Amino acid sequence: MEYYSSHISNLIEQLSRLPGIGAKSAQRLAFHIVNMSSEQVRQLADSMLDARNNIQYCKSCCTLTDQEFCPICSDSRRNPRVIMVVENPRDLAAYEKTGKFDGVYHVLHGAISPMLGIGPDDIRLKELMRRLQNNEVDEVIIATNSSLEGETTAMYISKLIKPSGIKVSRIASGVPVGGDLEYIDEVTLLRALEGRVEL
Ligand code: ZN
Repeated sequence: MEYYSSHISNLIEQLSRLPGIGAKSAQRLAFHIVNMSSEQVRQLADSMLDARNNIQYCKSCCTLTDQEFCPICSDSRRNPRVIMVVENPRDLAAYEKTGKFDGVYHVLHGAISPMLGIGPDDIRLKELMRRLQNNEVDEVIIATNSSLEGETTAMYISKLIKPSGIKVSRIASGVPVGGDLEYIDEVTLLRALEGRVEL
């Protein structure tokens, strides 16, 4: 039996596809949205479309940006010979907040997870390898999370890069196991960066 009109059911279904939104949250949001003014709903919908249509992947580091090359890759004060590899733009933002890293980044948009069926081809790894082939790079710092997926990804990348002779390092533990980089304070992040070990 259908409790809600098909319009609301459809909205609930769409919302429940978002990450972290379960059935209950989707219902709560849907009822909140239908009680908002039409103008507010239009602004919400417009901002989603606007963000989606105007954001692209940086041609160099793959982070999300509204230009061909992101502000970090375009900044001549950054050192393009040191690349820090992170899982997502949120981790990049966490390291940027420390203000102490003057290299550039590479955003994988995920991590290798055999359990979830996410392989090396599903993340932006080919783009990293192409970058290393076409540019002079001294060091690749792997700053994936210390979860099982993050460690698997770090090992995989290190094996891939090692034969090229480029130095590969891994941020130190000190970042708690299973910890998401974005929730870790800046001091801990800096310590992890400074205490990185060569792989
Ligand atoms: Zn970039």
